[in-house]
Amino acid sequence: MQIHRIPVLSDNYVFLLHDAATDTAAVVDPAVAKPVLSKLEELGAGLVAIFNTHHHSDHVGGNRKLLQRFPEAVVYAGAEDRGRIPGQQVELSEGDRVTFGDRTAQVFFIPGHTRGHIAYYFPPIAEDKAGELFCGDTIFAGGCGRLFEGTPAQMVDSIGKLRQLPDNTRVWCAHEYTLSNLKFAITVEPGNGDLQARFKQVQQARQRDEATVPSLLGLEKSTNPFLRWDQPTVMAAMGQSGERGDEVRSFGILRGKKDLF
Ligand code: ZN
Ligand code: FE
Repeated sequence: MQIHRIPVLSDNYVFLLHDAATDTAAVVDPAVAKPVLSKLEELGAGLVAIFNTHHHSDHVGGNRKLLQRFPEAVVYAGAEDRGRIPGQQVELSEGDRVTFGDRTAQVFFIPGHTRGHIAYYFPPIAEDKAGELFCGDTIFAGGCGRLFEGTPAQMVDSIGKLRQLPDNTRVWCAHEYTLSNLKFAITVEPGNGDLQARFKQVQQARQRDEATVPSLLGLEKSTNPFLRWDQPTVMAAMGQSGERGDEVRSFGILRGKKDLF
């Protein structure tokens, strides 16, 4: 499975999964159709699946047009998003599996950004290979999605599930927000050397107009405050003592500060 990253709109990424053996493709969160159709043509591949993570228009906006061109494509999205995903045919829940080509993805139900948000995780095909996580607007490189329809407790549960995946998992998030996320992260953990190093790398990458997605989950675990809400440094920065029960509050304060950053 080859993964093609297509930048669209101001800061969205659409991901095209290509199975060269069968000349088929699947698309994750097609915000718009046109650049996806161009890429399909370039690859000579037919679209067989649309994987949506949540209902926001910058994730489903291209569904209808893609279905006009590929009426046989199957639209997958979360069961809780029933009624708000254009063309949805399959309603997915935690633990469900979906196949594309010779790969099978596990579905995680990860409410918080929205109440129906899901992620698709393709485990590695060999021990030395990376898994692929398509997490929409839940984990961002260096940050996380806003809580539009969910609570800090839900987001802690959701990110907690994703945080358990292997460090070498590639995180394919749906927006290029990394630089501003890391600017905020440094205000939370100025003493985190891995974070300072990452910030410099990302600054240079963005100056060269390079994408910072995908990132590696291990790097998120060591530098992204939204995967570190329960670390003593982050909890202290959020004014929490570290006693049990304060973790969710730490996350909520952290998310609130980012909203105002
Ligand atoms: Zn969204
Ligand atoms: Fe989005």
